[in-house]
Amino acid sequence: MTPRETALALMNKKKAQRKAVFNPVSSVTVDQMEMMHSFFPQAHTDAKKMYELARASYEILGYDAVMPLFSVVIESYAVGCQVDWGALDKMPTITKKLWKGYDDIHFDRSFLNNHAVKAVLACIAMLKQKYPDVLVAGKVFGPWTLSYHFFGVEDFLIKTITHPREVKDILEKLTDITLWFAEAQVKAGADVITIADHATRDLCSPDAYRDFLIPIHSKLAKNIEVPTILHICGDTADRIAYICETNVGAFHFESKVDACKAVELAQGRIALIGNINNPSTLLFGSPEDVAKKVGYAIDCGVDMIGPECAVPLRTPLENLKMIAKAARPS
Ligand SMILES: [Zn+2]
Repeated sequence: MTPRETALALMNKKKAQRKAVFNPVSSVTVDQMEMMHSFFPQAHTDAKKMYELARASYEILGYDAVMPLFSVVIESYAVGCQVDWGALDKMPTITKKLWKGYDDIHFDRSFLNNHAVKAVLACIAMLKQKYPDVLVAGKVFGPWTLSYHFFGVEDFLIKTITHPREVKDILEKLTDITLWFAEAQVKAGADVITIADHATRDLCSPDAYRDFLIPIHSKLAKNIEVPTILHICGDTADRIAYICETNVGAFHFESKVDACKAVELAQGRIALIGNINNPSTLLFGSPEDVAKKVGYAIDCGVDMIGPECAVPLRTPLENLKMIAKAARPS
């Protein structure tokens, strides 16, 4: 089985000869930028540089997937947000909110012609052509995260309590951005789509997840033509059962949920990917620490192994490589 076949089989809860290894969000680090001669911030918007850096996860780390979207800002930028593109060791950030309420929302499909979006699509097409046996993963942000960008985190969260009806309308409307960008990435060649939506426990209660996001994530899973991987940071134990109701293909979860606990909560209804801790294990731990955590996740029954979230940009290469090494039978 090729890396692509292995990952797709596990995504569909079918048998494979080994666990797949990849990060459905970014696994880029400064070391990989130096080895591939492709650096932040240019690699966020230049298709060729993006391609060089995206293929590092296969070529250098030995993972089963390549993924060209390293930041959280592309579609928000394309729709009109101001962005600080960061630096070699600093991720881009949104610098100014765009809208105050539902009535301000204004966008159409023309954001797909933005230069940064076009670079992503060209990069996916290049990856698909050069790496037919590797899983090509695309990435979009869900409307909860997009709302943080467009309305500001604080203002949006207050709205969820004071104006829940408006929030439902906002999420429904912004879902088109997520869907259209996903469709374009699938058309360009993406085998799977990560939907990152930062409905983290401290920012979104389990009831808020149930009421606002089960319908939205279900709609995304239903309408995106390839398997989807939902990524939510933090302790998500209180919503894994809800996530299983959405029909996303897989859930990418953090180490704040114990691997065995996640498997127990998912009850085989969804594929699980993760959950190697970033700050203490991958950034500051040793390769032996990493191997131990990988072994534990595999023993628990996690389907695909990888870092829990976008890795810190100074994460040692040896630790990232160890995930692939430890997950493959010797
Ligand atoms: Zn995360």
